[in-house]
Amino acid sequence: MARGKSVRSSGKLQDGLSGEELFSKKPGITYKDFLILPGYIDFAPHEVNLETQVSRNIRIKIPLVSSPMDTVTESQMAIGLALLGGIGIIHNNLSIEDQAAQVEKVKRFENGFITDPIVLSPRHTIADVDRITEQYGFSSVPITEDGTLQTKLVGIVTNRDIDFERDRSLPLEQVMTRELITAPRGVSLPEANEILRKSKKGKLPIVDKEGKLVALVSRTDLVKNKEYPLATKDENKRLRVGAAVSTHPHDRERIEVLIARGVDLLVIDSAQGYSKYQIELLKEIKKKYPEIDVMAGNVVTREQAEALIRAGADSLRVGMGPGSICITQDTMACGRAQATAVYYTAKLAYKYKVPVIADGGITNIGDIAKALAVGGSAGMVGSLLAGSKEAPGEYFYENGVRLKKFRGMASLEAMEAAGGARRYNVEDQKIKVAQGVSGAVVDKGSIFDFVPYLMQGVRHALQDIGCRDIPSLHQALHSGKLRFELRSIAAQVQGGVHGLYSYKKPIIGAD
Ligand code: GDP
Ligand code: 5GP
Repeated sequence: MARGKSVRSSGKLQDGLSGEELFSKKPGITYKDFLILPGYIDFAPHEVNLETQVSRNIRIKIPLVSSPMDTVTESQMAIGLALLGGIGIIHNNLSIEDQAAQVEKVKRFENGFITDPIVLSPRHTIADVDRITEQYGFSSVPITEDGTLQTKLVGIVTNRDIDFERDRSLPLEQVMTRELITAPRGVSLPEANEILRKSKKGKLPIVDKEGKLVALVSRTDLVKNKEYPLATKDENKRLRVGAAVSTHPHDRERIEVLIARGVDLLVIDSAQGYSKYQIELLKEIKKKYPEIDVMAGNVVTREQAEALIRAGADSLRVGMGPGSICITQDTMACGRAQATAVYYTAKLAYKYKVPVIADGGITNIGDIAKALAVGGSAGMVGSLLAGSKEAPGEYFYENGVRLKKFRGMASLEAMEAAGGARRYNVEDQKIKVAQGVSGAVVDKGSIFDFVPYLMQGVRHALQDIGCRDIPSLHQALHSGKLRFELRSIAAQVQGGVHGLYSYKKPIIGAD
């Protein structure tokens, strides 16, 4: 131990380059262009804490954010990722109502108390319950006198009341359960859970003195709470979710609706975020809704970053052109190598305590660790999660390989897809220049299997670096203690699998 300490503290023996030396006066570099030199280990991987800030006020337990792309993040991805400790950003290639409904699905998925449960009246039919099940995924519906929360609770319909009923036009008063176990308003969550446990019921309605329904507690949430200790939740124990919005004037309404439906984080989605429109929008949102965190971007330079921070950004999305489906750098001649972009923007944002989200170009576990090591607080990923069960879209086969569609949001195909903003462009007869491509990625299975694998990999990486958590990694970066080395082309080849006739790839890993 003592020997280890003296080796660690010996500054003279430090090899490699500091962050400043690595990035200054060099061509822009990507994650593949450098390595982090190993540090001193005095802890196990499970002791590594991956908690981080995705924005000034939102903390997540794993540094992973899913990109607002229409082949990556809708409610199923956002729910899965939030349960696993990250956060998903719902894309905006949807009508306002459809995007808000996606947000609502995430907010409703897991609650301590469901404070606005969906209710029906005794005169509604089983078919109405079927519609709710189709839209939201649950089948238990409390019944109140007039089908609103303003009147008394008179029963509950659960799957067991209706699953064998052939006539779906029957009114609910004929099938609902009338003898209810309820709890009074003011009951604590542990007390409510205890009542559910003892009663063996699936749902516990919470009622006020007049017998009106004020909340619902669900048994499945007890189980979920146990299974997902890292889940990203708000103060009401609801999963957190972000949503993308544009700077177009007609998206002011979108912002209002998303906030009303419970969105936690707004992401201003723009390939080049240093604009009058974004700065005005940021100021406007922060003035009108100071309680909502806003991720602004995308930026890659210090000047861009500073402007958005000054306009009120709670988080910066960094990257221009590194995405897997991206052709921006070839088309627009603008952009920056991603590691360089993250380093310089993060160095600036560190002073303001604004987290930087490294967006695009992350292809494996090492890239996530590198994004964090050059100052990112989390990685935003598209292709890494595309092709998973939780990504939108159906699987299809090509040459016997199971695939899912994956496309850039600025691909011609995505730009032509339904959505107010897109339609506006079409009506305007503007020539649209693609900044992305569309393609397919192979089936990756479920994120519930591979995201924990990715994160365990990142824990090992931080252990090798000798840092127990992300704040200490950032401290080491900015103090110059963290050491890097540039990789020659030969070093990159040597660092990959080579010289084998065949080999089996891990789920995510070898490129
Ligand atoms: P059910 O038994 O078919 O209603 O469904 P589950 O209990 O398996 O799952 C319902 C999930 O949806 C739980 O995690 C609830 O917290 C969540 N949820 C959110 N809003 C509502 C609501 O208004 N009613 C019901 N029944 N569940 C809701
Ligand atoms: P990936 O993780 O797939 O490497 O990159 C995902 C990121 O690429 C997204 O978060 C977004 O910033 C960016 N992106 C998504 N679609 C497009 C596109 O069509 N063109 C460009 N230039 N970037 C895109």
